[in-house]
Parts: sequence; C-alpha cells; structure tokens
Amino acid sequence: MAFSNLEGLYRQVIMDHYKDPRNKGLPTDESYHHVHLKNPSCGDDITVAIKLEGDTIEDIRHEGVGCSICCSSASVMCEELCGKDIVLARRVTHNFYEIVKGSEIDETIDMGDAIAYSGVSNFPARIKCATIPWKALETGLEELGK
Ligand code: ZN
Repeated sequence: MAFSNLEGLYRQVIMDHYKDPRNKGLPTDESYHHVHLKNPSCGDDITVAIKLEGDTIEDIRHEGVGCSICCSSASVMCEELCGKDIVLARRVTHNFYEIVKGSEIDETIDMGDAIAYSGVSNFPARIKCATIPWKALETGLEELGK
C-alpha cells in the first residue's frame, strides 16, 4: 500500500515537471555551451545549454521534443544541478544513473525530485529517456574540458 502511494507521488512529480518544465528555452547568450543528443528508439531530441562560472554550474537550459520521461528529467536535472560545483554535480548524475537502474545509491547525496525516477527501472527501454539530458550535460562538461 505504502509502495503504491509512493509510486503515485513519484508520477505526480514527473508529470509536474513535464507540464511545467523549469529552465526550458535555449539562451542566445554566447557564454552557454550547447549539446544536442537524440534517442532514436523513442524519438527524444534534446539540446542542453550549460553556463559555467569557474567550477560551478551557474545555469542549465534545455529545449527539445520527447516523451514525458525525457522532458521532465531535463527539468529535474536543471533544478538539481544549477548552482552546484562540477564535482558534486557529477556525483548527483552518477547517483541518478543508479536510481533509474534500480541499483544501490549513495544516500548521503540529496537527490531532490530526481528520486522520483526510481520506477523507471521497471521499464528498461525507458532508462535512456530518463538519462539523455544528464548524458548531454556530462558530454558538455567534457567538451568544456571539465
Ligand atoms: Zn523517451
């Protein structure tokens, strides 16, 4: 019973981010680095724009089309990673990959709404949907030499 209530709550969190996405829309500001990734198996097509200030992620924006899992995950990622230093952002990202696989996570890290994606592990085909915005961010950090 408790489990299904939790599932319902998680679904609400995901739908809230899908219907009212945070940080949506790409900036024209040239200080942002853009990464475009596609997930052909689902049709997700997303661009993430990253702005760093030293070793801190000052801002992340996103734009694209995709399923509710992908689009909401981009919104959650922005909310969780903006303002974090890159080392912590990477730890949160890796923890998120464990969450969607249903693996053990580092519970000392505050995951915020990202914890709502634990149910994705029941649908392995959707794991890529959830992770693609986060992969785009990781790619961007690598391209920026971070
Ligand atoms: Zn998808």
